[in-house]
Amino acid sequence: MLKINKLHKSYPIGDSSLHVLKGIDLSVESGEMVAIMGSSGSGKSTLLNIIGMLDEADEGDYILDNVPIKNLTEKKAAIYRNRFLGFIFQSFNLINYKNALDNVALPLYYQGLKRKERIEKGLFHLEKVGLKAWAEHLPSELSGGQKQRVAIARALAADPKLLLADEPTGALDTTTSYEIMAFLQQLNDEGKTILIVTHEEDIADMCKRIVRLVDGVIMEDKFVEQVRASQYV
Ligand code: ADP
Ligand code: MG
Repeated sequence: MLKINKLHKSYPIGDSSLHVLKGIDLSVESGEMVAIMGSSGSGKSTLLNIIGMLDEADEGDYILDNVPIKNLTEKKAAIYRNRFLGFIFQSFNLINYKNALDNVALPLYYQGLKRKERIEKGLFHLEKVGLKAWAEHLPSELSGGQKQRVAIARALAADPKLLLADEPTGALDTTTSYEIMAFLQQLNDEGKTILIVTHEEDIADMCKRIVRLVDGVIMEDKFVEQVRASQYV
């Protein structure tokens, strides 16, 4: 699914630069559920943003679904992003003035689907996250867990091969966090490949594999006996 070799990334800070990713090697197979775990500032989001083609590495190779990702035009990058990737964020990133259905249907607009099809597919995915009855509601009328479910439905709408989640439970209480993790585990059981960035050990334990990032270096990469989130809900 993805293969990363000797990846480096620095950010310019004044006259110098901050070396954030220091030679990352990472391969992820189709069907995996991987936690990228590390303390704040260790480079997790930077890595996920490069994997998600929202940012570019300075050095190294990145192959996504057999496509080398380097020096792509913004237009090409957008096509690959829409075709391969779904995103979930800590702060949900829903569009506040659009209702749940329109939020979920937005990626389908970018795929060029007609309105009728967008509504049908959007409702299908809202139903999958248990929120069909909330289709007409604005994000401000939803709880945090419901907002994240809408965001997950939106991420799934275009049927991405790879789901990327940056601290998906970071803004949620413990019970709701486990509900969201249980849902992500269910998606993984159905075959979806998922990468989750988290700084929380108990969230990482619910993935099948934990990649531990310390100061921009992978210090540990291990497969684990997965904890089922549903036992906490
Ligand atoms: P994490 O997600 O693990 O908390 P990040 O990848 O967000 O870590 O950040 C790693 C380091 O890079 C931090 O020190 C952060 O301040 C810095 N950083 C992140 N984004 C930028 C940016 N756009 N410009 C400058 N520094 C950045
Ligand atoms: Mg982060």
